[in-house]
Amino acid sequence: MDIALDWRVCSRARLSRDPRFDGKFFIGALNSGVYCRSICPAPTCKEKNVCYFPSAAAAAEAGFRPCLRCRPECSPGTPAWLGTSNTVARALRLISESGLEEGGVELLAERLGIGARHLRRLFLRHLGASPSAVAHTRRLHFAKKLIDETTLSMAHVAQASGFGCVRRFNAAIRNTYHRTPTQIRRLARQTANLPENEYVFKLRFRPPYQWESMLAFLAMRATPGVEAVEQGRYRRSIFLNNLQGYFEVSLAEEPDTLNVRIQFPDPRSLFLIVERIRRMFDVNADWEPIAERLRTDAVLRREVYAKPGLRLPGCWDGFELATRAILGQQVTVKGATSLAGRLVRTLGRPLTTPNGLTHLFPQPEVFADARLSGIGLPASRAEAIQALARAVCGGEINFDTVTDTAAFLSRLAQLPGIGQWTTQYVAMRALGEPDAFPAGDIGLLRALHLSSARALEARAEKWRPWRAYAVLYLWNSGHKR
Ligand SMILES: [Zn+2]
Repeated sequence: MDIALDWRVCSRARLSRDPRFDGKFFIGALNSGVYCRSICPAPTCKEKNVCYFPSAAAAAEAGFRPCLRCRPECSPGTPAWLGTSNTVARALRLISESGLEEGGVELLAERLGIGARHLRRLFLRHLGASPSAVAHTRRLHFAKKLIDETTLSMAHVAQASGFGCVRRFNAAIRNTYHRTPTQIRRLARQTANLPENEYVFKLRFRPPYQWESMLAFLAMRATPGVEAVEQGRYRRSIFLNNLQGYFEVSLAEEPDTLNVRIQFPDPRSLFLIVERIRRMFDVNADWEPIAERLRTDAVLRREVYAKPGLRLPGCWDGFELATRAILGQQVTVKGATSLAGRLVRTLGRPLTTPNGLTHLFPQPEVFADARLSGIGLPASRAEAIQALARAVCGGEINFDTVTDTAAFLSRLAQLPGIGQWTTQYVAMRALGEPDAFPAGDIGLLRALHLSSARALEARAEKWRPWRAYAVLYLWNSGHKR
């Protein structure tokens, strides 16, 4: 979502310090002549002493110097960043998805099609740290989590967190935490006895969190065979790097915590899986600034008061979510869910798990040439899904590497059968955009007794940059779509 540099919206986004707005605008401090990112750790300026810019380049053009603490000149998502630094963004993603594997910086550089020295230079310029330093920090944090929260042997922890050999792993842990891995585990007192390939993690969130509403939202849309909601738990099958597994999320007994149970054959993917689950359940949201904004609307105020802490339900996979969104055009949620079930039974790969999940959601390659006529889908919808699948297979659409939301959504909108509602829905749930807004949504118009998308947009100005949360409240109030 472009915040379109409405200063009031920027101001709210700035005061929230929500990292999701990072890179969408920049803040110039008139007193100091320095410009910052929205997440700068420096003390917050008074509103009358700041101005806003759409890009780091624009702030520099106006004579502001980059802040040394938040390094705004290397912030992702902006036009300036997307030049050479697109490489850095891709490198970061590769590192977070696979760690810096055997072969290290050289291999990483090769995968990005540039020289290793050039990659190091770019990292230092944009992030102030080398690729190995960034990878090392991530590895360490993840290793610590595995020591604390799993019963994996130390050799497996070393491998899963990408240390290669146990000796390097031991040395790195001792260096950072001043304890051996075994001492750390003893302190964490992990005693649970879990089956092989099963891992349990705890994800902390800042309260309040409307867990029941999150589950209800996911339950209504759960694709039969792929997802299930039962006894307070959400469960789904997953397919990653040609391997299959599943995970389950529930509210933990200890306060402000979600329990995540993952069954997956390759521990090296755990980091990525946990990160995706964190996004899917909107674990990192900070409720206060959102509530403060939504309470300015009379209707929303009642809803927010009744159900504080509604979160933005994300998704496991962008392609799957977009496919579900297309299936949902012009039919009820229930209708779309049963269409999805038929689709999965026809095209999805069967799965045997002890807990009722029967299929994997079909991969885009399967859709590209499949005959979709048999499952009761209108021809136009089938065409839209296939066009999407082909665009994903051909690499024109890639849900995993979105750094520029607006550009991504406009590419998506060029596909047949994908209109404004669908792109905004994808922005909300696949990209986690807090300000995404399907302005033409009938449910929203009804909930507010409005008759046009224009009237709704005008009303929603006050909700920015949290319109997606407002949408959830309004859908939740009984005008679901
Ligand atoms: Zn700063």
